[in-house]
Amino acid sequence: MRDVPEIFGSLVFNDDVMSARLPREIYKSLHKTIEEGKALDITVANAVAAAMKDWAIEKGATHYTHWFQPLTGITAEKHDSFLTPQPDGRVIMEFSGKELIKGEPDASSFPSGGLRETFEARGYTAWDPTSYAFIKDDSLCIPTIFCSFGGEVLDKKTPLLRSMEAINAKAVRLLKLMGDDQVTRVNTTVGPEQEYFLVDKETYKKRRDLVITGRTLFGAKPPKGQELDDHYFGVIKPRVMAFMQELNVELWKLGVYAKTEHNEAAPAQHELAPVFATANIAADHNQLTMEIMKKVADKHGLACLLHEKPFAGVNGSGKHNNWSLSTNYGKNLFKPGKKPQDNKTFLVCLCAVLEAVDISQDLLRITSASAGNDHRLGAAEAPPAIISVFLGDELTEILDAIEKGEHGENKKAETVVTGVDVLPDFKKDTTDRNRTSPLAFTGNKFEFRMLGSSFSIADINTVINTAVADVFDRLADRLEAADNIEEELDKWMSQTVTAHKRIIFNGNNYTQDWVNEAHRRGLYELKTTADAVPHFVNEKNVELFTKHKIFTKSEIASRCEIMLDSYCKVLHIEALTMLEMAKKEIMPAVLSYTNEVAQSVKLKQDIGIIAEGDASLKLCTRLTDLYNKLYRRTDALEATIAGMDSANDSLEASSYCRDKLVPAMNKLRSVADELETIVAEKYWPYPNYSELLFNV
Ligand code: ADP
Ligand code: MG
Repeated sequence: MRDVPEIFGSLVFNDDVMSARLPREIYKSLHKTIEEGKALDITVANAVAAAMKDWAIEKGATHYTHWFQPLTGITAEKHDSFLTPQPDGRVIMEFSGKELIKGEPDASSFPSGGLRETFEARGYTAWDPTSYAFIKDDSLCIPTIFCSFGGEVLDKKTPLLRSMEAINAKAVRLLKLMGDDQVTRVNTTVGPEQEYFLVDKETYKKRRDLVITGRTLFGAKPPKGQELDDHYFGVIKPRVMAFMQELNVELWKLGVYAKTEHNEAAPAQHELAPVFATANIAADHNQLTMEIMKKVADKHGLACLLHEKPFAGVNGSGKHNNWSLSTNYGKNLFKPGKKPQDNKTFLVCLCAVLEAVDISQDLLRITSASAGNDHRLGAAEAPPAIISVFLGDELTEILDAIEKGEHGENKKAETVVTGVDVLPDFKKDTTDRNRTSPLAFTGNKFEFRMLGSSFSIADINTVINTAVADVFDRLADRLEAADNIEEELDKWMSQTVTAHKRIIFNGNNYTQDWVNEAHRRGLYELKTTADAVPHFVNEKNVELFTKHKIFTKSEIASRCEIMLDSYCKVLHIEALTMLEMAKKEIMPAVLSYTNEVAQSVKLKQDIGIIAEGDASLKLCTRLTDLYNKLYRRTDALEATIAGMDSANDSLEASSYCRDKLVPAMNKLRSVADELETIVAEKYWPYPNYSELLFNV
C-alpha cells in the first residue's frame, strides 16, 4: 500500500493547504467568514482565488468549474479554462475572486419545476466555503450552491445548508437553556453507507436495458440466487479487490475517508462506508464517491450499478444515512454519557427525534421516493414504506419509565432514569440487531435505511434537521416560559413519549402483522412515489419549511412537481425500452426458436415417427401460445404508453403510471421471463442473470 497519509487529501485545497499558502491575514479572515457564515470580501476572495489557481496549476489542472447539485440528483459542472489571451497574443493563467465566488452557468435545461421562465433561464452558482475545493479530471472544482436570479433555490445543497443552520441555532438555544455554557455550535454529522453492484462491462453492454435504464427490465430468476448466503461478507474476488484498492486511493486523494468494504447480501453486491463528516461535506463526498466508483469500475472492465433494483428477485441497493449531532466541543448529543446531565441531554434529544419523525413521517418517506426505490421499499429486503423507529428493548423501557414519571431504578435494564446516575452503554449489538427497521438508533446515532443507492443524501438530512430543529425550538419556547426548567423537561419528555410512542417499533418490520399494527396506530403507509410525493405540499409541511426558512411555498410546489415528473419520465423511458427490446429482439428470437422446433415437428411428421404427446409438438404449442401472449402484452403496453398523453398534470400522470403503466410493464415482463426459461440459450438475445451476477 502506498503512503496513505501522503496521498490523503492531496487533491484537496484543504485547511492545511490554505494555512500554508494564504497570507496570514487572509487566512484568518476567510476562517472568520466561514465561521460566521458571512459573505466573502472581494479582496479576500481575490487572494484565495490566486492561491487556489497556483496550487491547482501545480497539480496539473488547466480548467476550473463550479461544481453543484441541481435537482437532477447528480452533480453538474461547467468547465472554464484558466487561460486568458492577452492583447499581445500571449496567454496567461488567470482566476479571479469574482470567478471564485460566483458563476453563471447557462442553466436553462436543469429542472426548476416551473420556478424559472425561459426568458430568465440563467441561474448563478455561489461558493460554499465550508466545503473545500478539489481537483478532478484536471479541473479545479469549486463546490457551490445554485440559485435563480430571482433568488429561488434550484439545488439540493442550499436547503441542506439552511437546515444545518436551523438545527444549529435551535440546538444551541435549547442546550443553553438546559445549562450548557460551553456550547457555541452544533453540527450535523453524517456517514452514508453506499451499496452497489459490480458486473462485467462486456456482459453489461449486451443488455440494452441496463445501459439505458440502469436496471434489467427483463430477466428470469437464476437457479442460484442469494439463498446460500455465501456472498455476504465472503471472500472478495481479485478483480473486485483491485477495483476497491484503486477506488480507495482515488477517494483518499479527494479527502474522502473511505473506510470499509465488504460483500453484501446479493451476489456481485458490495458496500463502501466512509468515516462520517459534517452533513454538507458528507453530501459532496457521497456524490464524488458514486462518480468515482463508476469511473474506476470502467477502468477495471467492470460496470458499477447504482440503481436501487438492477435485478428482480435479488436484493436491491440502498444507502444508509447515519445521522447525529455534535457540539463545538466534541460532544455527540446521541451518546449517553456518564454524568446525569449528559444523560438528560441524550434523552431529551432522543425524544425530540421521536416527535420529529412521527410528525414528519410523510416527508421522510418522500426523501426516499423514486421509481427505482419503489422496487425496494416494502419488498421484504428493505424497510417497508411505513416509517417507524427501532430503539431496542432497553431504551424503550427507559422511555416507558419516563412516560410514567418514574424516577428511579429501572429494574429490567438495571439502570436508572432521568435525573439520576448512569445509562447503560447502548452497544451496537444490542441496538442494531433489527435490520428490518427503516430507522434505527444504533448506539450513538440514528441510521436511516430507506434511502435508495442512487440518491443524494441532501434531501433526507434537510428533512431530519428541519424537523428536529422545529421540536427543539418549540421545547425551548416552553422552557423559557417555565419556572422550573428541570421539571418542565421531565413533563415535556413524558408528554412527548405519550404523544409519539406509536412511532416506536422493535419487532420485525417485514411482517404483515406489523403492517396491520401500523394501520391501527394510524401511521402513514405510502406505498409508491405517486402516493408519497403529493404529501410534500401538505399544510403542516409548508408551515415547517417556511417557518425555518428552508423553502418557500412555491419552492416546495416546484420540488413536488419535479419529483412526480421525474417518476413519470423514468417509467416512460423504461416502458419504451421494454417495447423496443420486446419487438426488436425478444419476439424475433422466440420466433426463430419456434421455427426450429416446428421444423423438427414437421420432419417427424414427414417421416411418420411422430407419436401422440410428442414433446417437440408440445413445446412448439407452448412457444406459440406464449409468443401470442407476448405479442398481445406488447401491444397493450404500447397503448398504455400512448395513454400517458391524456394526463392533465403531473399528479394525474403519476397516478396513471402507478395504476396503468407499471402493471402493463410487469405483465409484459412476466411472459418474457417465462419464455426465457424455455427458449434455447443460443437464441436468447441477452446475457442471463447468472452470467451477469456470477462472472466477475
Ligand atoms: P459499523 O456499521 O461497521 O459498525 P459504524 O456503525 O461505526 O460502523 O458506522 C457506520 C457509519 O456510521 C459509518 O459511515 C460511520 O462513519 C457512521 N457514523 C459513526 N458515528 C457517527 C456519528 N456520530 N454521526 C454520523 N455518522 C456516524
Ligand atoms: Mg449500517
